[in-house]
Amino acid sequence: MFENLSERLSGVFDKLTKQGALTDDDVKTALREVRVALLEADVSLPVARDFIKAVQEKATGQSVTKSITPGQQVVKIVHDELKHVLTGDQDPGALKIDNPPAPILMVGLQGSGKTTTTAKLAKRLKEREGKRVLMASLDTNRPAAMEQLAILGAQIGVDTLPIVKGEDPVQIAKRAKTQASLGGYDVYMLDTAGRLHIDQELIAQAAAVRDVANPREILLVVDGLTGQDAVNVAQEFDDKIGVTGVVLTRMDGDGRGGAALSMRAITGKPIRFVGLGEKMDAIETFEPDRIAGRILGMGDIVALVEKAQETIEAEQAERMMKRFQKGRFNMNDLKMQLEQMMKMGGMEGMMGMMPGAQKMSKQMAASGMDDSILKRQIALINSMTKKERANPDLLAASRKKRIAKGAGLEVSELNKLVKQHRQMADMMKKMGKGGMLKQAMKGMF
Ligand code: GDP
Repeated sequence: MFENLSERLSGVFDKLTKQGALTDDDVKTALREVRVALLEADVSLPVARDFIKAVQEKATGQSVTKSITPGQQVVKIVHDELKHVLTGDQDPGALKIDNPPAPILMVGLQGSGKTTTTAKLAKRLKEREGKRVLMASLDTNRPAAMEQLAILGAQIGVDTLPIVKGEDPVQIAKRAKTQASLGGYDVYMLDTAGRLHIDQELIAQAAAVRDVANPREILLVVDGLTGQDAVNVAQEFDDKIGVTGVVLTRMDGDGRGGAALSMRAITGKPIRFVGLGEKMDAIETFEPDRIAGRILGMGDIVALVEKAQETIEAEQAERMMKRFQKGRFNMNDLKMQLEQMMKMGGMEGMMGMMPGAQKMSKQMAASGMDDSILKRQIALINSMTKKERANPDLLAASRKKRIAKGAGLEVSELNKLVKQHRQMADMMKKMGKGGMLKQAMKGMF
């Protein structure tokens, strides 16, 4: 479904991951190629631009271990960003069908695959969830479309609402509702009429049906082969009718796949299913994780980097613990802790995890310490020389003045930091002896 994009990207990353060391220029060049590959796959320009920007930001300032190369790290970042771009906030395959009979409204342009998708979903609901489904065609302009749904229904063993000539779509929707209630159906699916283009009448009709049926889901079916047009169509349908999700069809074709990547970023609507062929089983839920993996085709590297990241953290924790047990706790350690605290939702989050630290936490709160203080403290430590950080005992008055000035803060604030450091160093030493430290560190990393 994403063959071309996938091929292009693996070309870029093959080069990158083979190199041991990477310069900023290497990464820039690679990301330029990724950007071109995205645009060629018909991903919209703003989405491609934001994507590259996010990857660039994350790629700088990453800590890397010997076990992975920077190139592999970049692959992992691109993978995570792909997943992010694709991710919706709900389980894509879970249709809202409680309170039977639950109406599902299917909308889309003519030829998008709407009728086929209606039948595919009905079959899925029947077979996977054991639901009784009733399908109704509202395409009063095209008797052939009504026939088509009836034929598909017979083929998959799902009932269709009998065709009554002369009814308008709203009347058919009402009849479907009545029939679904009386017949004990769990779900009824309304296959609205499509047009070649979005026009007033199409929208008015879909809106009128929506208002009488009050559907739990409004699924828009769009042709994935139409690239950016698919995204534009989705945007327009959503503006005018409101949709709860998108089904991208013909993803089995040699489409460039860009529509899938831009859809959520531009319309804010999740892709729920993808159509992968004409057969009634050719439909899948849209799983961002799996799709990102498929696009990159580099699952091994992603797993490797995840493992290495865990190792880095474990090693870091281990190293710190050894130092603390020996009573060595310098300003570098404190800085690392402060940064960790910021990452973990600030002061309270971390203090809560450290046995014996509650008292200090209260003291900090009483002295008005909050997270902006964490940032200032980190600035103060950054303003120290290497030697001063390693050995805080060096901090005499003249040095303190220089450090505070460098951070743009008062010496009194630095004094507080030094005092805090001393308290923490003492605490670490005590905890190290009692074996409590190991316990506390476990929760922190
Ligand atoms: P509608 O006018 O939107 O109701 O479109 P149809 O459901 O009649 O589909 C139009 C054509 O597209 C039919 O020949 C379908 O078999 C085909 N079709 C629908 N979905 C897919 C898909 O996911 N992949 C492929 N290859 N063909 C599809």
